[in-house]
Amino acid sequence: MTDLHNLEVPLVVGGGVAGMTVALSLNGAVMLTTDLPGSSWWAQGGVSTSGTPNDRKKTERWSDLADPSAVERLVGDGPEAVLWLRRLARRLSEDTDETVILGAEGADGLDRAIESGDDATGAEVMRVLTGAVAASDSIKRLLGRAVDLITDGERIVGAVAVDSRARRRIVMAPAVVIATGGMGRLYSVTTNPPGADGSGIAMAIRAGARIADLEFMQFHPTAMAVSKDPLPLVTERLRDRGATLVDAHGRRFMSGIHPAAELAPRALLARAVWRQGLRGTGAYLDARHVLELADHHPTVLAHAMSVGIDPRSDLVPVSAAAHFQIGGIATDLDGRSSLPGLWAVGEAASTGLHGSSRLLSNALLEGLVFGRRAAGSVTEAAEPSGDIGYCPVDGHDLPITPGPAFDELRKLMWEHVGVERQGSGLWEAHNELSALEPVLRRTLVGRDAATLAIQVVAAALRRTESRGSHFRIDHQALDPSQARRVVVEPGPVEVERLV
Ligand SMILES: Cc1cc2nc3c(=O)[nH]c(=O)nc-3n(C[C@H](O)[C@H](O)[C@H](O)COP(=O)(O)OP(=O)(O)OC[C@H]3O[C@@H](n4cnc5c(N)ncnc54)[C@H](O)[C@@H]3O)c2cc1C
Repeated sequence: MTDLHNLEVPLVVGGGVAGMTVALSLNGAVMLTTDLPGSSWWAQGGVSTSGTPNDRKKTERWSDLADPSAVERLVGDGPEAVLWLRRLARRLSEDTDETVILGAEGADGLDRAIESGDDATGAEVMRVLTGAVAASDSIKRLLGRAVDLITDGERIVGAVAVDSRARRRIVMAPAVVIATGGMGRLYSVTTNPPGADGSGIAMAIRAGARIADLEFMQFHPTAMAVSKDPLPLVTERLRDRGATLVDAHGRRFMSGIHPAAELAPRALLARAVWRQGLRGTGAYLDARHVLELADHHPTVLAHAMSVGIDPRSDLVPVSAAAHFQIGGIATDLDGRSSLPGLWAVGEAASTGLHGSSRLLSNALLEGLVFGRRAAGSVTEAAEPSGDIGYCPVDGHDLPITPGPAFDELRKLMWEHVGVERQGSGLWEAHNELSALEPVLRRTLVGRDAATLAIQVVAAALRRTESRGSHFRIDHQALDPSQARRVVVEPGPVEVERLV
């Protein structure tokens, strides 16, 4: 059964920090979102904001290939975006505002992060945004999963969605904003929550939007190595407070690798932890001497205690894990994609801000800053909804839930497209993914994963060097001739007339 909605306001797909910020910054919006919470709720560390020149330098220095104009926007507009958030918080409750404090986080060594709720900053930020959306008369929420974009041949004019009862909905809108988050779930070892499967990026690929930088998946060095999926994150703040990385014999292994030891860049730490695993020498976080661990890190403590580890007396086993997709739908600094009528923000978008290796605490802020900018651009450029639409030919009536083939894809991605890659493994992944594709295409999540995984492998094969979070065993050196972002245009897709 198909249900047609002809909207007069923009359609925002996704209800994380980026989607909510866009919706709240528009004069009216429909927010279509699944009931899965998204990564924003899980962010532990903080939001960087200080806006000082030092902050800018630090972001550029740690983020090789970062686009200076995107950094400029993040750093320049960051304080105003945080003030906006604080105003929302104040409107909801004075108490909420009181809990937002300034403090430092992890490897950047600067007093530049906003944190609240101890190690549950994301939940606190989302509590404010969710409250503001609920209180808004101009935002309507639709519960469902967007599965494809609709075009009129020239611009994006809507999306196909399925609701919780598997009914198909056609939503025509003056503008569509994708804010569906990242794609860590494509890896069997990840910190990302269920739902972070890159569906928005896959939809945009099928509609013909340009994509960029998919080879740059950032791996977090300290996910808790326990039998859970996703792996619980152990925040950088513990290392900032003096926790060390040690092997099974209690020997620190980072001091010989980088002068900043445990506060080295994430990519380096992740590789060191990964190598410890390969050697069988183990990787553990020793946080036993971190004072006030229980007070400041209740989330980490609760995760550890739930599997019988007490970080105050035990070493915590850690693993690298897929954490943040730097690449995504290629956009300008106002969130405009290469397709008229389509915008993208947050982890689903690729503005060039993060270069090849995101600096921590920039992702929530990215959603706030670029979400507000995108709303301005959407307001200027939105056009009345059309009544003719075409969409990629595919089975929108497929079940959503992925089957065992999706698990196979995740294992393949972790094994061959993970922390360390090489040409032979990437080709193997490519061939195995191609063989799996017909089975993957039997579910909505599987078909998106197939679309995306093949693009990630292609991007990793194209970059024959090691840079930031992309490490090639067969091309370990940095190649200055590849010091640029790679933006690609996916090939044409067959379409069917929809409305
Ligand atoms: C464990 C963890 C800790 C982190 N810690 C930090 C930190 O301390 N600081 C920081 O800056 N960043 C941190 N990050 C990264 C940051 O949380 C994310 O990059 C950011 O929150 C992404 O926001 P988003 O709005 O783009 O996506 P999300 O918050 O993931 O939201 C995506 C939304 O889209 C919806 N959705 C997805 N697909 C569809 C679809 N097809 N149709 C409809 N709706 C859909 C989901 O339901 C969800 O509402 C962390 C991430 C994780 C996983």
